[in-house]
Parts: sequence; C-alpha cells; structure tokens
Amino acid sequence: MNTNSPPIYYKKDANKYFYTIEEFNKYIEKKVKKTINKWRMLERDSKIAVAVSGGKDSMSLLYLLNKIEKDFPSELYIIHVDEGIRGYSDKNLEIVQKAAKELGLPLYVASYKELFGYDIDRIAEIPRDVRKFATCTFCGVWRRWAINYLALKAGADRVATAHSLDDEAQTIIMNVMRGALENLLKLKPYPEKVENVVPRIKPFRELHEKEIALYAILNNIPFNDIPCPYAEEGMRWDIRIWLYEQENQRPGTLYNILRFGERLIKQCNNKKKVSKNITRCKICGFPSSKSVCKAHELMLFLKDRGI
Ligand SMILES: [Zn+2]
Repeated sequence: MNTNSPPIYYKKDANKYFYTIEEFNKYIEKKVKKTINKWRMLERDSKIAVAVSGGKDSMSLLYLLNKIEKDFPSELYIIHVDEGIRGYSDKNLEIVQKAAKELGLPLYVASYKELFGYDIDRIAEIPRDVRKFATCTFCGVWRRWAINYLALKAGADRVATAHSLDDEAQTIIMNVMRGALENLLKLKPYPEKVENVVPRIKPFRELHEKEIALYAILNNIPFNDIPCPYAEEGMRWDIRIWLYEQENQRPGTLYNILRFGERLIKQCNNKKKVSKNITRCKICGFPSSKSVCKAHELMLFLKDRGI
C-alpha cells in the first residue's frame, strides 16, 4: 500500500476521490435517492417494510432509509425472517431487535418453523437425496414468501430489499445461463401492483456491494458478519467471482448488465407478449404459476415423505 496517498475512503473514478466520510455518505445517499426517484419506487407517504436479515446490506438499507425518509411523511417497519439456524439466526435476530429499539421502529418477525413447520437446521439434517433440494432452495423460496407475508401483516405498501448492483447483475447472468427469460423479465426495477403481493423495491440496485460494505463500516452500522453455516457455493458464487474479475478488468460491466436487463424488460413489456399465467396458490392465495406456490410445494414435499 502506498503510504503517501491521501486518506481516500473510496475512489469514485479515475479523477474523483472522497476525502471525508460526509462526502462519501452524501454520494451514496444521493445515488440511492436518484434510484428511488428514477423508478418511482416510493410515494411521499409510503408505508415501507424494510426486509432486514441483520447482514451488512440490509442493515445499511435500514439506517439509510431511516435517515433519508425523515424528510417525508412516510412510515418504516422492520420485517425479519428467522430461519432457525443455531449460532446464526439468533445473532441476526438480536442485532435486528436492537436496531428496532434504537430507531424506534415496529418490528415484525416470523420463523420458518411457525410458517412451514420446519426450521433450516432440521432441513439440513435430512439427507440430501431424501430432501432432493439444497438447503438454500428451501431457505430462499420460504424467505421470499415470508417477506411478503410479513409486509402484508405490517400493512405496508412497499417492501424494500437490499439487493445490490452485484446481486442484480448475478441474477441476470444466472437467468441467461438457465435460459429463464420469464424469470429475468420479473426483475422489474419499479414497484408492480399484483393482488396479495406487496410491491418490492430495491433502492440499492445501483450500488456496488463494496460501496454498501464501506457505508456500513464508516457509519458504524451494526451487522452480523458471521456467514451462514449452510451457504453453498453454487452457481451464483461462481458468477459472483467471475463478475468481480470482469468488473476489475472492464469497469462498468455490472452497470452494462443491469441496463441490458432493464432494456430487455422494457422491450418485452412494450410488446405485451409476456405470458401472464398468474393463478393463486390454493393454500395461501398468493400469486403462483401452479395451483400450489413454490413455498408450499416444498412444505408439502416434506410432509408427503413423512418428514
Ligand atoms: Zn402458497
């Protein structure tokens, strides 16, 4: 490391440096506000449920939204999903509960155990050939369902998640590699109204993962840095590493992928040819492409096997 260099917290581009935390914060907050306005993610008086896991991204989102929404008559709620992973979920819950108290915001919590009858520790015990799906599949599908459930319970009209530019680019590439155009087209940057679904917004979709991490550290935002013990290094991990390399060698790659996704969604929506086969899950009533939603399909899959 060159010790003669100025105290740079973050290098924006070849000629622009930030010298103070305030400058960096201003840059991040301006960028988030711009993203929110660009896609009309929020109204002045939105009721925003922030999905907070306790990790650095969602904790940063919570503190940042709490800061910038102070100027508006909007309301914030915290929603948190308890996976039931010993030594991990309990630490997350503790951090989120403390933050709710500190910020004076209502907190809504639900566990997979109460919603689906299983916690993730239990799922992980089931031999892989019996449960067929990866632990992360149960967790990811159930989380999505639970976030919507809790947002409805809170009476929110928006649910904000902390997906970053890196997350969005990875998802786009993953869907390309799987040939899953329908899934790619679901990544709409603007809130979409569907019955029984609280519209999702991603105010961090233009922020690099590293910027969010730096924001959390520089602002002393508390977060859980313990990685999930069941994290599986699958396809997303490979793409993540590959995209890091691409972004390093060809800066702007992540934005190009994001813009490509946005343009594709716009083009396809203009043609109005996207199949809209939305039915409802007969168990929960949430929109689903089949008669039972994916979350309940996984639950029934286990129950049918007597697990
Ligand atoms: Zn369902």
